[in-house]
Amino acid sequence: NPNKTFEYRIMPYGEEHLLLIARDVTRVSQLEEMRKDFVANVSHELRTPLTVLSGYLEILPEDEDNPMVQKAMKEMSAQAQRMQSLIEDLLVLSRIEASSERIYENKVNMPAMLAQLEKEAATLNVDKGHKITFHIDPALWVFGVETELRSACSNLVFNAVHYTPPGGEINVHWRREGHDALFAVIDNGDGIEQNHLARLTERFYRVDKARSRKTGGSGLGLSIVKHVLSHHNSQLDITSTVGEGSQFSFLLDEELITEKS
Ligand code: ADP
Repeated sequence: NPNKTFEYRIMPYGEEHLLLIARDVTRVSQLEEMRKDFVANVSHELRTPLTVLSGYLEILPEDEDNPMVQKAMKEMSAQAQRMQSLIEDLLVLSRIEASSERIYENKVNMPAMLAQLEKEAATLNVDKGHKITFHIDPALWVFGVETELRSACSNLVFNAVHYTPPGGEINVHWRREGHDALFAVIDNGDGIEQNHLARLTERFYRVDKARSRKTGGSGLGLSIVKHVLSHHNSQLDITSTVGEGSQFSFLLDEELITEKS
């Protein structure tokens, strides 16, 4: 039935037989589509009123003497900004989920993209004072969607900067690993307890809600990374030791590696 979606599983059945189990997931995938559309539409619709609010907040006179009003205005601006980045992240996520862009159509100059990312990380690092080192293979280009790969790599690097206590050490690698290409971000921050690792890429999942809220993230970053990687036939590997640090990495298959253009 072309209108139905099935999920199949094959299991051994006795010594000589296999059992094929087909599960009708039509309703589940319809609901999933509706959810995606809904999120995309709501995020889009929220953008306009928020832009108007932020715009007015910006042009309000700053010479207001009342410290209460000054404080309120500052807080409103900060929260409006937070909401804006949340909505942007939701839109990025929806776009990636809906993306049908073929990964083999474009060559991505990863070394140039990562050089740019290195500059952005340095800006973000001003208050943190980490020692950040990029180790980049200048000849390693891949097929893929540049905006998506940039978003995945920058989320991982910015997270390391955010979640490592000041004065930490962060190493970013882009190199061949066997036949594949490896991207890895290694920090010597607080690390993450094992019981959180499996859920880290879920939407809105955060280890320490109170602390993360202060750092201003949306809880969507790693979910974006996961979707980008699955679009590039890869997955995010996370290893972490509490008190020692974390490593976030992914491999791109040798089929994606290409000559410079
Ligand atoms: P957020 O917007 O909160 O940064 P992410 O999806 O990017 O959302 O990350 C989810 C959670 O994973 C973060 O809230 C943080 O608790 C944890 N995390 C991510 N990267 C690191 C890291 N390098 N070190 C420690 N914790 C991290």
